[in-house]
Amino acid sequence: MFDQYDVIVVGAGHAGCEAAVAAANMGCKVMLATMNMQTIGQMSCNPAMGGVAKGQIVREIDALCGYSGIVTDHSMIQFRMLNRSKGPAMWSPRAQSDRMQFAGYWRYLLEQHPNIDFWQEMVSGLLVKDGRVQGVRTGMGLEIPGKSVVLTNGTFLNGIIHIGEKQFGGGRAGESAARGITEQLVELGFEAGRMKTGTPPVWIAVRWITAKWRCSLATSLWVSFLIQTPRC
Ligand SMILES: Cc1cc2nc3c(=O)[nH]c(=O)nc-3n(C[C@H](O)[C@H](O)[C@H](O)COP(=O)(O)OP(=O)(O)OC[C@H]3O[C@@H](n4cnc5c(N)ncnc54)[C@H](O)[C@@H]3O)c2cc1C
Repeated sequence: MFDQYDVIVVGAGHAGCEAAVAAANMGCKVMLATMNMQTIGQMSCNPAMGGVAKGQIVREIDALCGYSGIVTDHSMIQFRMLNRSKGPAMWSPRAQSDRMQFAGYWRYLLEQHPNIDFWQEMVSGLLVKDGRVQGVRTGMGLEIPGKSVVLTNGTFLNGIIHIGEKQFGGGRAGESAARGITEQLVELGFEAGRMKTGTPPVWIAVRWITAKWRCSLATSLWVSFLIQTPRC
């Protein structure tokens, strides 16, 4: 049913989108398999790109002709350079984006690429033969052959959400966790651990009377240096 792909990317979050275009721009035939096409490039929590550490990474990705900076600039509402009071090594670009535009533009760019195909389903395991990965198996039992597989599952692998004293499985609010891959990786000799990320309580109402406008000091700045130059 499927051709053999050079690269299969599992998960179309920020990392998976970048992995797919990086491989596709190098001429590889890419399959981007993700649970839900409607959440391609979704901004998980804060509708912001960058900040300390990730801001530097996004600029490095930009230097390598990745698309994260371009997509961010396309959907940007506000830009700030954080940590201006510290030395230049600590300066961190962070852009607030329109969440829908950000995800929509990522999907648009991916869909324009002739080397990228899409599959909407949960990937439940890897096809491994003679110690080499040969592709992936989906939740419906379909096998997609590939020479290499990139796992960019984000917070979804056996994810657990804690809210107060309640706990339940989930990759992100309203989305199910991905099962199968972690167990298989452990069987193959990898160690699995658990990391935590925290979403603070979110305001559901804003008292505009007491809110103060905060103007960006650097509205003319962009994340990407590629945006006004031809693509590599
Ligand atoms: C509270 C919080 C605040 C944040 N604030 C910021 C911020 O201010 N600025 C910033 O830049 N970043 C911020 N982030 C980080 C940002 O959300 C992550 O860096 C980014 O979402 C990670 O992208 P990802 O591709 O690794 O994973 P994810 O976004 O988690 O995407 C994973 C994708 O893989 C898919 N998937 C997973 N498993 C499977 C499977 N088995 N089969 C098929 N598909 C699968 C999922 O459906 C999903 O689409 C924040 C994160 C959190 C939690």
